[in-house]
Amino acid sequence: MKRNTKQQSYISEAVSELHHPTAQAIYEYVKKKCPSVSKGTIYRVLASLVQEGKINQIQIANGADFYDWNCMPHHHLVCETCGTICDIPADKIKTFHNDQECADMYIRTHRILFFGQCATCYAQTKKELSERGDVQDSERTTQENDTGLSFVSNNT
Ligand SMILES: [Zn+2]
Ligand SMILES: [Zn+2]
Repeated sequence: MKRNTKQQSYISEAVSELHHPTAQAIYEYVKKKCPSVSKGTIYRVLASLVQEGKINQIQIANGADFYDWNCMPHHHLVCETCGTICDIPADKIKTFHNDQECADMYIRTHRILFFGQCATCYAQTKKELSERGDVQDSERTTQENDTGLSFVSNNT
């Protein structure tokens, strides 16, 4: 196996093993297996994997881009408590459609980022609130509205 091919397979492996890693996290993962790897190689290989449609690159306004092995349509929630990035299945949110015209523009694809709390942190928050004796359902409504988006929930 050629050295580059080997590094490339470690990089692919890092993206699938680490769940939404940043380039830095991928670099640290690959470096353990292949100490000679450079950051330049990591970025180059990631860019070509993105171009080939094998992985997705997701940009966050105030953070490092992260990479995703899951190329099926889905959205992401960034946990503001622990920083975890969680998948939200695309069929949970049905407001947006690809490949259609909208107000004289053409939508090829879309990417929505949600901010709130992951299941673990949200469970912890609810636990703390119930221990304090003031559970509020409005807590959740507020967080959803914070995204600035209104969407129709589809429970059928
Ligand atoms: Zn969390
Ligand atoms: Zn994802």
